[in-house]
Amino acid sequence: MRLDKFLANAGIGSRKEVKALLKKRHVTVNNKVIKDSSAHVDPDNDTIKVNEELVQYQKYIYIMLHKPPGVISATEDKKEKTVIDLLPAELQNFRPFPVGRLDKDTEGLLILTNDGQLAHELLSPKKHVPKTYFAKIKGEVTEEDCKVFANGVTLDDGYITKPATLSILQQGETSAVEITITEGKFHQVKRMFCAVDKQVLYLKRTRMGKLLLDEALKMSQYRELNTEELKLLY
Ligand code: URA
Repeated sequence: MRLDKFLANAGIGSRKEVKALLKKRHVTVNNKVIKDSSAHVDPDNDTIKVNEELVQYQKYIYIMLHKPPGVISATEDKKEKTVIDLLPAELQNFRPFPVGRLDKDTEGLLILTNDGQLAHELLSPKKHVPKTYFAKIKGEVTEEDCKVFANGVTLDDGYITKPATLSILQQGETSAVEITITEGKFHQVKRMFCAVDKQVLYLKRTRMGKLLLDEALKMSQYRELNTEELKLLY
């Protein structure tokens, strides 16, 4: 692995900052000063220090993002701003990707990681990982809708959804609900409400599996998951 990538991934700084550190002779590999950012290192066997301090190798990154509306859940796009664009260079160096997708206009909990195994576990249809959303709905959501959702809704393409839990938080011309689904079909929540002649006005994911969106994170803010949170995902 390239030395500059190793140092950037370890959170030492952006590639540019790392290059400057190397140039100033702040970095040693096996006690030898290295100035070349393209030098190769073996993270498992080489001893890499910055200013005499050992740098620990971090292979995986796990990020909780409060996705704002207006950005897309992709790693790159020619026209649109992506969730990756919200991260600083030192986190982008890990090459994280979003675990599943939220629509462009949906906000809330999005996990970003470079751990393909975890992403697979969370997205596998066999695992039925529950995802909870808060939604505002145009129209009066009724107990009948809750029953329909619990039994499975037939979507526009004929697919019958798995049982979903719908709780009414506020009823009226505009209703507020919480819905938990265990699948991730395209526009699923919006299409489920469409099937009962209602329209989703606002959608926010608040939970994935046992992991809750940290409400201290404002829109567009992110942080790394802590060890306890990471355990909740396995
Ligand atoms: N269901 C939707 O319709 N949209 C999302 O972004 C997530 C679930």
